[in-house]
Amino acid sequence: MALKTAKEYLDSIKKMKPRVYIGGKWVTNLLENPVTKSMVMANSAIYGLAEDPAHKEVMVGTSHLTGEPVNRNLNVARNIHDLDMRQEMALLTSQTVGTCNYRCVGCDALNSLASTTWEMDQALGTKYNERFNKWLAYAQANDLAVSGAQQDDIDTFVHLVEKRDDGIVVRGIKVSQSGAIGSHETLVLPGGSLKEGEEKFALAFAVQNSVPGLSYICQYNAYSAEREFCDNEDELGNPLYGQRETSTMYFDNVFIPWERVFLCGETKYCGKMVTRFAKAHRMNCGGACKVGFADLIIGGTMMAAEYIGVEKIPHIQEKIIDMVRYSETSHACAIAAAMRGREEPKGSGVFLPDDLFGNAAKLNIAHGFWEIIKNAGDIGGGLVVTAPRLKDLDDPEVGPVLKKAFGAAAPADKRMKVAKFLQHWAAGLHGVGTWHGAGAPQGQRFMFTLLTDFEAKKKLAKKLMGMKDE
Ligand SMILES: Cc1cc2nc3c(=O)[nH]c(=O)nc-3n(C[C@H](O)[C@H](O)[C@H](O)COP(=O)(O)OP(=O)(O)OC[C@H]3O[C@@H](n4cnc5c(N)ncnc54)[C@H](O)[C@@H]3O)c2cc1C
Repeated sequence: MALKTAKEYLDSIKKMKPRVYIGGKWVTNLLENPVTKSMVMANSAIYGLAEDPAHKEVMVGTSHLTGEPVNRNLNVARNIHDLDMRQEMALLTSQTVGTCNYRCVGCDALNSLASTTWEMDQALGTKYNERFNKWLAYAQANDLAVSGAQQDDIDTFVHLVEKRDDGIVVRGIKVSQSGAIGSHETLVLPGGSLKEGEEKFALAFAVQNSVPGLSYICQYNAYSAEREFCDNEDELGNPLYGQRETSTMYFDNVFIPWERVFLCGETKYCGKMVTRFAKAHRMNCGGACKVGFADLIIGGTMMAAEYIGVEKIPHIQEKIIDMVRYSETSHACAIAAAMRGREEPKGSGVFLPDDLFGNAAKLNIAHGFWEIIKNAGDIGGGLVVTAPRLKDLDDPEVGPVLKKAFGAAAPADKRMKVAKFLQHWAAGLHGVGTWHGAGAPQGQRFMFTLLTDFEAKKKLAKKLMGMKDE
């Protein structure tokens, strides 16, 4: 089986028994808790997209290992078209679920691994690429949901505890792991460049979801509580798929067999591995995914304007156009990053996006997203944060009062439904999520200073001014 259906994914989740802690409780059945269920349902909807012939071009790639069709989330980009379809997948999945494509980080991590393990084998004579390809062929054949993890704090870095004949034992913590709870496997990469002496932190491996010693401590916030305690999920801003679920992964002496270890101690290659992951992720998570969110927000904001009756007023139209300007500029940068992508390293057959345009996509949307949600809040009005429950409209005593209070060009129920949808974005977790996801913007600014040839620009200016080089 090369492509799983949404139902097959759900069936496979029922067989997994991860140790998941959320809001004071341990959960083993992810479909029983309403918050963990929303994450699983988002993943299953993304499996469903690959079943739809209308989305085949975007969602299905061709395995370079077997020539078989594979879900694009497990595809290694081999040309510009693959890169372009990858960023289109980020757009489509966001438009569909209004939350994370929880397979996205894993996809960008496996592209970085394909490139860097190949380079290591060429230079060091290791067998990492061979091992990685075996694992990838298995993941593709079973259409696994794979999440991705970078490492964060030096004190809690996932690190090597013991090397054995059959594998390694690792220990440490990884925070903010999107959808790891409902993924069959997580790819763990190093957190950044490492130097000699830091070999025990230089690790890349694939870990299965429910292995002994691995626990997931889920995020918990007002949106989690609202989902947990509401009696009707239809009332929520994103009824089926929720806000965006991450967890802190705790590796308490977890055993990883050698077949799943793709870097162990080679500090020199950690920086490359992370930079290659980042350039893919900034094009996709930054440039394209958030544009899908923006499409939803713009749609909801236009409905709010129509329901209030202000859709033809010039300043409203101007604000909507600004929202489109921010999002389409980022999408254009993501497309440019794909179109200017290239094989990296030469001979590997792996294509990665252009760094400068990928960073531009992410930095532009990090700033633009705040403007987009500001305009959604502006046009949606105070109701976005002051509305009572939709259900209160049915109360015999307060219902008639609310219908009078919130009815405008459209009845109160329609206005309140849209207000709740906009609340999900404007007063939810996505502003900070967009800012930090794929790296805090200072990282992209730093990349601009590295990637921009300022001397060449000065030369151009001097030439036009008729100034000579000293
Ligand atoms: C919604 C969401 C989902 C995520 N999903 C995943 C995932 O699936 N997998 C994964 O691996 N990660 C994930 N992340 C983590 C994400 O990559 C990090 O949040 C991001 O890289 C920022 O790191 P941080 O959160 O540790 O913030 P910090 O790095 O602590 O940043 C806080 C501030 O400190 C500044 N700062 C930090 N270090 C330096 C420095 N050396 N020099 C100067 N300034 C510095 C930053 O610029 C920023 O202003 C997710 C994050 C979010 C918010």
